[in-house]
Amino acid sequence: MKEKALNSPGFEIDPDLVITLDHGDPLMFEPFWKEVGHNATVTISGWEKMSYYACDTDDICWFLEPDFANEVLRLHRIVNNAATNGCHIIPGVGSTQLIHATLHALASIEARHPVNVVSAAPYYSMYSDINSMKSALYHWAGDAATFKGDDNFIEIVCSPNNPDGMIRHAVLSNNAGKRVHDMAYYWPHYTPMRGPADHDIMLFTLSKATGHAGTRIGWALIKDTDVAREMVNYITLNTNGVSRDSQVRAARILKVISDGYEFPNSNGAGQFFHIGRHLLADRWRRLRQAMEVLGKFSLPRFSTEFCEFFKEQAQTYPGFAWLRSEDESINDCGDFFKRINVLIRSGRLFGAGPNYVRINLMGSDAYFDGFIKRITSFG
Ligand code: PMP
Repeated sequence: MKEKALNSPGFEIDPDLVITLDHGDPLMFEPFWKEVGHNATVTISGWEKMSYYACDTDDICWFLEPDFANEVLRLHRIVNNAATNGCHIIPGVGSTQLIHATLHALASIEARHPVNVVSAAPYYSMYSDINSMKSALYHWAGDAATFKGDDNFIEIVCSPNNPDGMIRHAVLSNNAGKRVHDMAYYWPHYTPMRGPADHDIMLFTLSKATGHAGTRIGWALIKDTDVAREMVNYITLNTNGVSRDSQVRAARILKVISDGYEFPNSNGAGQFFHIGRHLLADRWRRLRQAMEVLGKFSLPRFSTEFCEFFKEQAQTYPGFAWLRSEDESINDCGDFFKRINVLIRSGRLFGAGPNYVRINLMGSDAYFDGFIKRITSFG
């Protein structure tokens, strides 16, 4: 009931209602998928997909649905955002599971434990949560930029970066360390495509590529067969495979997007990345306007770059806004937003100070509109 109301066109947020912009829930893409309608619907009969095994049991990844793998490769070919040649594709229960699987795989190959896991601040808050898993193989060791250890490290490079949308490169130059590239936002609606990323370990997720966070499907592109095998071992122990039904749904969703580019007008809703970019551009325009009126926070500025996908100069429109307080009376941005009933995520959780906050810009229209209205009336 609540979700339905919040997503109805023209729904007005009650001034006392808490607006949740804390999590990166990607509901802004829902209208596109409503427009696509049955073209994106999947039907799985009661007798289908019953086996644990999705493909030949001799394959390294025995739970990979062939159709899902084909659609992943097809979309990467169309967008040209990742070099997939010779890569193993490993699906995961979201890229969250793949982050754990990758750390586990890389650390198990190392001789000394625990391996230090680092990422340059501000880093995605979930990375620092890995200690809750109490793994004996690896542990969180903080900001990569201030890491003083030897070569016993794994650096997670998130590019474009959550929370600030910046393009990132590894900051630790020691080649003996390992790197994981979290590419959740390397898609043309968020950032100009600078050609195919080509790293040993690249993680993607349906959650941010298409907005289907609830399907819980991510995929890893892995060059090294031993690493791929260890990741599969981890997922086998952890969830004994990855939902075949979810992979079928993910394949269908990816297919609709690819068809929209290879066979224009085929899906009834248009071209997803063009529409996604337009929606995000509009949100960023309104956000910048509202923040100017409020006059208390600054937003990152991005330079225009040539986008190999749109074949034109393009702007960056991250899924999150990374705000910095410019008002001396606001030391803790979290408190400020709490007072106006907006839940955000404090900069502290990203290894930055409380004078920073992250705001989800991918939420429903109702939440975003309500947020802009609340900010504007405060200014
Ligand atoms: N990596 C990054 C950078 C993210 O922002 C997220 C989601 N917020 C994830 C990984 C995990 O995504 P999921 O588990 O939904 O695939």
